[in-house]
Amino acid sequence: MYEGVDTIWMDGEFVDFEDAQTHVLTHGLHYGTGVFEGVRCYDTADGPAIFRWEEHLERFYQSAKPYDMEIPFEPEEISEATVELIRREELDSCYIRPVAFYGYGPLGLNPGNSPVQVAIAVWPWGAYLGEEALEEGVDVAVSSWRKHASSQIPTNAKTTGAYVNSVLASLEAKGNGYTEAIVLNKEGNVAEGPGENIFLVRDGELYTTGLAESILDGITRQSVVDIAEDLGYTVHDDATISRGELYTADELFFTGTAAEVTPIRSVDDNEIGAGTKGPVTDEIQTTFFDILDDPPAAYEDWFHPV
Ligand code: PMP
Repeated sequence: MYEGVDTIWMDGEFVDFEDAQTHVLTHGLHYGTGVFEGVRCYDTADGPAIFRWEEHLERFYQSAKPYDMEIPFEPEEISEATVELIRREELDSCYIRPVAFYGYGPLGLNPGNSPVQVAIAVWPWGAYLGEEALEEGVDVAVSSWRKHASSQIPTNAKTTGAYVNSVLASLEAKGNGYTEAIVLNKEGNVAEGPGENIFLVRDGELYTTGLAESILDGITRQSVVDIAEDLGYTVHDDATISRGELYTADELFFTGTAAEVTPIRSVDDNEIGAGTKGPVTDEIQTTFFDILDDPPAAYEDWFHPV
């Protein structure tokens, strides 16, 4: 996966890939006290550009807040380091992973005495659920694991430790032969995928689960809401979706930086719609990829040139 990646940015310096190491007594390793982002840089008609970089950077800093974590670099420094890293790696398109974590220090639960470390890695990454998934759709299963409520762990923050919930749901889905999971919240309503938000299409209108359903406020989710509204669709972005409504949806699709816009063709072996990519999903997905290929003026501010 990381073949050909030479350089990592770590704590203010560009270091060789092999030298980007940390100690086993790192606080974040023991207690999951880290925050991260997942971002994509696309090879657009105007050159390589980072998609919604300002929004991702803002979420990165916001994620750190509940943990009293002061990221010891300004957003501009992180931004410049990332652009420089992509240039050094000579990548036209890539995935970008910034991470900040409480580092080596006293292993008490209060991380206050541990230094905050920051690293950025970039690498080429294709379709997360596979090229075929983008066309044909994926088979998913409702997980037996519930999503933690935002009163237990803030779900609007991308905290490393919180991702054990996503790992459990993914392992279960893959172990049972499905491509991905859908996770219900404590109330038993739909929350999201392990690394994706979810959209439902019914009678030509779009529904996506609201922030109160214990989800991450996905940046692809926000982008798809804007795209769908610009295409003239009515979008309900604070929906409560029951498990039963999944099965009877006209269409379902995932959104996420990694998954982009991926159709869902079945849930728990029930075909959704015609069991293939539906027409609304197709129009939104096509528009999304067209914007990434050749950003129209109306969406130019979604792109940060490299
Ligand atoms: N939910 C979860 C739990 C995620 O990890 C992600 C991926 N960051 C998303 C939703 C989608 O968010 P985004 O569109 O910002 O990548």
